[in-house]
Amino acid sequence: MVRRGRVFSGARPTGRQHLGNYLGAIQNYVKLQDEFQCVYCIVDLHALTTLEDTHLLRGNVHEMALDWLAAGMRPEETIVFVQSHVREVTELHALLSMVTPMGWLMRAPTFKEKVRLHPENVNYGLLGYPVLMTADIILYKADTVPVGEDQLPHLELAREIVRRFHSFFGETFPEPKARLTEIPRVMGLDGVQKMSKSLNNHIELALSPQEVREKVRTAVTDPARMRRKDPGHPEVCNVFSLHRFFNAARVPEIDSACRTAGIGCVDCKNMLADGINEAFAEFRERRADLAARPDYVQDVLADGANRARTIAAATIAEVKEKMGLL
Ligand code: SF4
Repeated sequence: MVRRGRVFSGARPTGRQHLGNYLGAIQNYVKLQDEFQCVYCIVDLHALTTLEDTHLLRGNVHEMALDWLAAGMRPEETIVFVQSHVREVTELHALLSMVTPMGWLMRAPTFKEKVRLHPENVNYGLLGYPVLMTADIILYKADTVPVGEDQLPHLELAREIVRRFHSFFGETFPEPKARLTEIPRVMGLDGVQKMSKSLNNHIELALSPQEVREKVRTAVTDPARMRRKDPGHPEVCNVFSLHRFFNAARVPEIDSACRTAGIGCVDCKNMLADGINEAFAEFRERRADLAARPDYVQDVLADGANRARTIAAATIAEVKEKMGLL
């Protein structure tokens, strides 16, 4: 198969993935494999910038890799690995830091946000995050990065760092382009905030069908529907917004049944749980099979790191030569 170029994407190890992760990133990762050579990285070094839950890090890496593989990543073609297993990335980070003006980093919106959220731990890792992110991408000479609209400024900063490197040392890397991806805003079960593990308003992909049903049962719906006979307003109901992903063909019917009180919220939630369970039936089987072979996941990650390291070593040799290092 002829592929168009190389995609790089990284995600922090947040452990078991949820519906928001799947709809926002994983399903796109899987699709991109048909078009590009893909390099997918679990960015554990980035997770250290906030020093939260480091004792969970190893387990989180393993669970996340399991979900990625069960969702359809094909490790025989795609490079799936852990960021810290390829130490060249820290070397490139140091080298790129020599050409990156401090002002660029201090103005980065993510840095300002992190300082606001973690005033007790404003470390260099937070400030240097965009440099490490740039190193992640260009170490593997990736030319394409899948991003949502809101992540475009981060990628632009990476492109600026690449251009600045080139202005000192000559063309070395592809300037990474954005592959704009529509990232749906998947609301959490509270119906107020985005689905997120830290807010505990999420549905994990790995849950059993019964657990999914119980989780969905807790979802907040239209607050105006106090009684079964009250007509509802699906546009304000989070259960309805999830039906769009898991029962797309039945959305008009559910919309009208809700507005006319033809359906109750309990039935509607059961219908959603059925839709989710059907969508992830194969995933669940594959995941159980992979989970029964823990060495397999470790082997995939080790093989991915080996393949990533081969590309990384060549890049670092080229960069050092251009920068005048012996
Ligand atoms: Fe939401 Fe369904 Fe209840 Fe309407 S019937 S309020 S769409 S859960």
